[in-house]
Amino acid sequence: MAGVQDRVALVTGGAQGIGAAVAARLAAAGAKVAVLDLNEDSAAATAADITASGGTAIGIGADVSRADQVQAGVDRVVAEFGALHILVNNAGVLRDNMLFKMSEDDWDIVMNVHLKGAFLCSKTAQQHMVAAKYGRIVNMSSTSALGNRGQTNYATAKAGLQGFTKTLAIELGPFGVTVNAVAPGFIETAMTKATAERIGSTIDQMREAVAGAVPVRRGGVPEDISNTVAFFAGEESGYVTGQVLYVDGGRGLL
Ligand code: NAP
Repeated sequence: MAGVQDRVALVTGGAQGIGAAVAARLAAAGAKVAVLDLNEDSAAATAADITASGGTAIGIGADVSRADQVQAGVDRVVAEFGALHILVNNAGVLRDNMLFKMSEDDWDIVMNVHLKGAFLCSKTAQQHMVAAKYGRIVNMSSTSALGNRGQTNYATAKAGLQGFTKTLAIELGPFGVTVNAVAPGFIETAMTKATAERIGSTIDQMREAVAGAVPVRRGGVPEDISNTVAFFAGEESGYVTGQVLYVDGGRGLL
């Protein structure tokens, strides 16, 4: 098998934004894709779009921070497609605020979705990967892992995912399972639109500001990330593990 052809992939937070682009990209490359998201109808609609484009996909409604729902979701993927080779831990939320105004709930939900979600999904999925002696796990970090005003919760979770990635790479490598992370910069999605509104800006202004600040002179789009995920998810990338790849238009260089 080459690339992701005939592999089974589970993409969390796959109904929209980066996750939907990842699901579509993997399906276009021949993977059978399970789109998992909080809202089952949204997940099913994204899966239907993939199917309409000639791909193979199902939609699953589940909260990644709930062990029972993750178990049921993974069980369904394996029941429908007979395996689970690729997990993309992409589900995410923002609850931005300066630390002195951040509530305990804002802290907890961000930790639960990003960190506990990746823990539960990886723990459940790796059983199938280890048994098959083959797997690819890709975690969605962020440039915010390096620090970002108003995001102590999110930055902590995204930095935590990098440690999670490297440790899991050590543990699962002997079983043919690689674990890598993608750390996007500004990518235009519902999440960044909400951020723009919160800070009294617009997505157009934000895109323009980013374009002026990064070497490649444009804002990022979900396809920039889905292409990177597809690289890590491919069979040929089996000697690449424990890596964090920043996809930020070169912002980190400045
Ligand atoms: P998005 O458009 O908000 O999509 C995130 C998806 O995750 C939504 O469909 C959301 O559902 C879902 N989700 C939230 N909580 C969940 C849960 N508990 N269980 C299952 N699904 C859940 O965000 P995005 O911009 O595509 O971001 C995708 C990932 O990339 C996130 O991890 C984000 O932190 C990361 N990232 C994004 C950027 C960027 O600039 N956009 C930059 C760096 C990193 P609801 O809409 O129903 O909440």
